[in-house]
Amino acid sequence: PLPTVAIIGRPNVGKSTLFNRLVGKRLALVDDMPGVTRDRREGEAQLLGCAFRVIDTAGFEDEDPASLPGRMRVQTESAVREADVALFLVDARAGVTPLDEEIARWLRSAGTPVVLAANKAEGRAGEAGVIEAMALGLGEPVPISAEHGEGVGDLSEALQPWI
Ligand code: GDP
Ligand code: MG
Repeated sequence: PLPTVAIIGRPNVGKSTLFNRLVGKRLALVDDMPGVTRDRREGEAQLLGCAFRVIDTAGFEDEDPASLPGRMRVQTESAVREADVALFLVDARAGVTPLDEEIARWLRSAGTPVVLAANKAEGRAGEAGVIEAMALGLGEPVPISAEHGEGVGDLSEALQPWI
C-alpha cells in the first residue's frame, strides 16, 4: 500500500485547494456512504518521485467553531490514525485561532508525525501568521500558497521522510 498523507485543519484554511493541487485529476472515487467516508476525499499524488495517497478531510462550516466539532473531530482523528503523516494546515492570513490550538494539542498527543504548513502565505499578508504558527509546538511551519503553487518544493522536502 502507498504511504498516506492526511490533510487536516479547521474549515477554510485551504485543505481542499491543496488536495486539488497535489492530486489533480487522479481522484479516487469514494463511495457516497454515511459517516466518515462521506466527508472525505482520497486521491493519489506524486512528489519528488514518490507516489502517495492523500486524504482530504471536509470542513464543517455550519457547526460551532468554538470547539472542535463532533463530526470534524471524528473525521480528523480517523484520517490521522490511518496516515503515515498528518499535514496540518493553518491560515497564515488569519493567524492562529483557538481551534488551531485545540487541533495542535490533540496532534501532539496522537503520536502520528506532523508536518505543519502555513497556507495563504503568498505576498506579505501571511508573514505574521507564519511566525505565530511556530508557537503551536509542532515545529517550524512551511509557508505555502496552495492557490498559487508556492512552497510546494519545501513542503515536499518536509514530507519526504514519510512518503
Ligand atoms: P478547506 O475548507 O480547508 O478545504 O479550504 P478550501 O480549500 O475550500 O479554501 C478555502 C478558501 O481559501 C477558498 O476561498 C480558497 O480559494 C482560499 N485559499 C486556498 N488556498 C489559498 C491560498 O494559498 N491563498 C489564498 N489567498 N487563498 C487561498
Ligand atoms: Mg475542504
